[in-house]
Amino acid sequence: MPANKKLLMLPGDGIGPEVMGEVAGVLEWLDRKNIASFDISEALVGGAAIDAEGTPITPDTVARARGSDAVLFGAVGGPKWDKLGFDMRPEIAILTLRRELGLFANLRPATVLDPLIDASTLKPEVVRGLDIMIVRESTGGIYFGEPRGVETLPDGQKRGINTEVYTTSEIERVARVAFDLARQRQGRVCSVEKANVMESGLLWRQTVTALGAAEYPDVALAHMYADNCAMQLVRNPRQFDVIVTGNLFGDILSDLASMLTGSLGMLPSATLGAPDASGRRLALYEPIHGSAPDITGQGIANPLAQTLSLAMLLRYSFGMKDEAAMIERACLAALESGIRTADIMQPGMRRVTTREMGAAVMRELERLAA
Ligand code: NAD
Repeated sequence: MPANKKLLMLPGDGIGPEVMGEVAGVLEWLDRKNIASFDISEALVGGAAIDAEGTPITPDTVARARGSDAVLFGAVGGPKWDKLGFDMRPEIAILTLRRELGLFANLRPATVLDPLIDASTLKPEVVRGLDIMIVRESTGGIYFGEPRGVETLPDGQKRGINTEVYTTSEIERVARVAFDLARQRQGRVCSVEKANVMESGLLWRQTVTALGAAEYPDVALAHMYADNCAMQLVRNPRQFDVIVTGNLFGDILSDLASMLTGSLGMLPSATLGAPDASGRRLALYEPIHGSAPDITGQGIANPLAQTLSLAMLLRYSFGMKDEAAMIERACLAALESGIRTADIMQPGMRRVTTREMGAAVMRELERLAA
């Protein structure tokens, strides 16, 4: 197969390289089976790059990411680099990539797989079959709005200020991502803000409504206030298909939704940029977990979130829906075979290492491809 798609792998620190190792195995398998072949390269980020290159991410790595069709990121950070100044923090790598690549739409799926249904703190009947996609605007809103800061008032008190700001174009571009995703899913978008008390929320609602009517009449659009959405996610999460929201509410709601599934080591994510004139869209895929320094080097990390991040990459960046679904099915089948890494261990299951879980996924892939 022509290796015409450029894929940059950035394993990072801690368990990043351990779980990325299992993904490299899946990529080799896809190539060996003539299913798909990519132009793959690798670079250092985070603490590993600070140690070897003196900075969390070099301009060359950023340029290579910009020139790639997709970036697969592991995790960065760890106690070794905790005491460095703010501009030398390993996390600067991911923030730089998001900014330099213009990645504004963060996609966080919250999916409950049947074998792990008991890992959720909610009742099985509430979360069985859960499949939500939260689209969070990730470069605007109150985390970036001006004015911001802390000022001293004439009476000596201090006042902290942050500003929620969204323009129509910022709202439209993230809403488009949500509408497009809904078309590939159940065809429903729920747009979330606080239009009852915030002008920026009212603009958000009006803008999403107008875009939906003009360009996505086939997608069912609903609106919900953020506080109600938090409640509904716990009360009846299966009512949602795609949720689209701003940076602040998305930060909170996506963490809430991911915990409905109960397992950090299982959850992938994507951050997408805007498509250019040719339709090419820069994108970065990563598990939502961090570098897990507490278990680094023990070979016990769960590689499934990283593997499922590859599945997202194939689906959303390369349009390879069947291959993505095959990887997702292989992860599910590995769990159904009764094995678990330590983080998702359950009574009656066999505890396995990172390598053993990776090998089980490969076995299932082999079976599915036969
Ligand atoms: P973490 O996600 O690394 O770990 C939280 C807990 O979950 C730990 O007990 C860890 O062992 C466990 N865990 C996480 N992923 C796992 C996996 N795949 N398999 C098994 N267990 C898993 O979060 P933290 O402890 O708050 O942060 C550790 C470091 O990671 C910090 O330096 C932090 O800044 C960084 N971090 C990086 C990212 C990123 O790279 N995007 C995200 C979050 C945290």
